[in-house]
Amino acid sequence: MKVRHAQKGATQGSPNGDPVGDIGASVLAFLAAQALHPTPGNYELGYLYRTDRDSLAARSIDAVLTSGATLTQAQADYILSACHALPRESADASNAGVETPNGARLRHQTLQLHDLASDAANVTGQFGRDLSAELIHIEADSLPIARTITTMIARSGDAERNLVAALEQIDALHAEVAAAQNDALRDSLTGLVNRRGFAAELAKGASDAPVVLAICDIDRFKAINDRHGHPVGDRVIKAVAESIARCCAPHVVSRWGGEEFLILMDDVTLAEAHEIVAAANHALQNRAFRIRESGEALDPITFSAGIVLTQRALALDAIAAADLLLYRAKEAGRNTVYSEETTQRAA
Ligand code: GH3
Ligand code: MG
Ligand code: MG
Repeated sequence: MKVRHAQKGATQGSPNGDPVGDIGASVLAFLAAQALHPTPGNYELGYLYRTDRDSLAARSIDAVLTSGATLTQAQADYILSACHALPRESADASNAGVETPNGARLRHQTLQLHDLASDAANVTGQFGRDLSAELIHIEADSLPIARTITTMIARSGDAERNLVAALEQIDALHAEVAAAQNDALRDSLTGLVNRRGFAAELAKGASDAPVVLAICDIDRFKAINDRHGHPVGDRVIKAVAESIARCCAPHVVSRWGGEEFLILMDDVTLAEAHEIVAAANHALQNRAFRIRESGEALDPITFSAGIVLTQRALALDAIAAADLLLYRAKEAGRNTVYSEETTQRAA
């Protein structure tokens, strides 16, 4: 195992020449700081943490620690068992593309961490804005209060920045967990091509050929997770993926992110592409989704989309323009499809 970078303040040591005792001491110091007993399992986890900072175990631990908490025994057990269960890249490539139950649980935990950090960042940002608004109303003779509020604003700004940094780390961890389940070109949950698969599809045609790109994002998807849990959310993503892929066939539909799909269309005009995507949205919202276990009906599911016409070689750069249209479609109330043409007409 290779040491990628040494932990600040920790006793340095590595299997590549430094005294083994140093690593042992460093692992024990880590366990003591987390108030964890030096059991064989905890020691293994601490060893991974101290010697391979890029390992999934280390990054999972970092994600917990960045939230300001220490690692509980239950979390330590969970992370270790999930790491044991994940397919190892080199050990068994044939497992790739099939998500294990522990892999799914670990992925859901990273999603929960993402949601927690994202909510906390929003609340902290709002707190800072509320304080700034209050500051305007403070009388000139209340300078000490004004100073205290100014300090609080600065602190809440720091907290918000820290939370945004934690979010980035958690998202990278989530991507890593998901990637461990995927094969090279396909997403294991939906079976659609992933980002790499999309790039491979893009590379297939003439670089100056016109193509249409459509980015679709499920509306208010987080509410489904919040209300019914991540496993139900997963099933919804899968069902939406199937629905969009069927309606847009033979065009290439990829899973671009959590609840986002990017479609690549050849040989269509912008207006035709708009019709295809709007019809896919229509078909989706007419489907009656029910929770398998309880029979409870879900509210109709819709998406919003942004569509642009570009050239094959420029497609990856054009995604930003499609994203902007998607953003406007969300702003316009969701369940909306915008293409360059429609927004130009509207302007
Ligand atoms: P909007 O209409 O603005 O798009 O709202 P939204 O709730 O769909 O968007 P938001 O970005 O707030 O939430 C997206 C959620 O998708 C957050 C994340 O937890 C969830 N998510 C991302 N990937 C997955 C996944 O693989 N499975 C499940 N169950 N949830 C996922
Ligand atoms: Mg989204
Ligand atoms: Mg969404």
